[in-house]
Amino acid sequence: RGDVLVQVRVAQVDPRHVLVLVEDRTEARRLEAIRRDFVVNISHELKTPVGALSLLAETVQAAADDPEAVRKFSARMQSEATRLGDLVHEIIELSRLQVAGALREVGAVEVGPVVAEAVDRARTRAGARQIRLTTAGDMSAQVYGDHSLLVTALRNLVDNAVNYSPDSSGVSVGVRQGQDFVEISVVDQGVGIDPAVQDRIFERFYRADPARSRETGGTGLGLSIVKHVVADHGGEISIWSEPGQGSTFTMKIPAAAAGHPIEEKA
Ligand code: ADP
Repeated sequence: RGDVLVQVRVAQVDPRHVLVLVEDRTEARRLEAIRRDFVVNISHELKTPVGALSLLAETVQAAADDPEAVRKFSARMQSEATRLGDLVHEIIELSRLQVAGALREVGAVEVGPVVAEAVDRARTRAGARQIRLTTAGDMSAQVYGDHSLLVTALRNLVDNAVNYSPDSSGVSVGVRQGQDFVEISVVDQGVGIDPAVQDRIFERFYRADPARSRETGGTGLGLSIVKHVVADHGGEISIWSEPGQGSTFTMKIPAAAAGHPIEEKA
């Protein structure tokens, strides 16, 4: 097949024996390509805030005699620096998930505290825009996984729900205990996502609406992180969305009682 790369090495061990080593390099090549693309994208994404910071610093220096301008431009420097910090944090998080053994502390995890942590962090931002954040369902359900990674994933979904919702709307997080899985859904009444790009939003640095994403300070990495976390848990992520109506993201994570479905990475 065209998409398989095999490396063959031959060594003469002694006059009567030849050693032939055949190695499948397909996966290694795929990972190399992913890493290369990631590095190209990262350089591009980092250059923007760094360039903006440098320009703003020059502007502040040039406007040293004008306190109002200094105040305005240093506030913008502050927000660019925060954005850069978020981006670096998410790049590190995603890189960590892409290497072996991303799930570190694995065990039975109660969903309630995961939901509480993810929602608490978004409360101030939601409150400032009169967005009601509610939770419902079986908070005592238990999944098998890594508490802090599950918080990271759910936090990204809740942050997005708030970011892409109008003021005074509602965002809710629901938990449903199934037979072998626990479903955690984040429902918003926001801008929604065009069906044509619903598959693409999980790609690194993909934004359905770059202008809006910039406004909300989005890095374009949140959903890639969610996808990785869910896959590492042996779970699934699904999306329902209609432009103008809102979106629902559902993470389906194996229940603690369903055994230990997580594959140990080499
Ligand atoms: P970002 O940092 O840009 O939010 P994400 O990876 O979290 O990056 O999301 C990718 C894109 O998917 C976003 O830029 C946005 O266009 C879209 N998106 C994600 N969540 C929602 C949502 N709840 N409602 C509408 N659009 C969303």
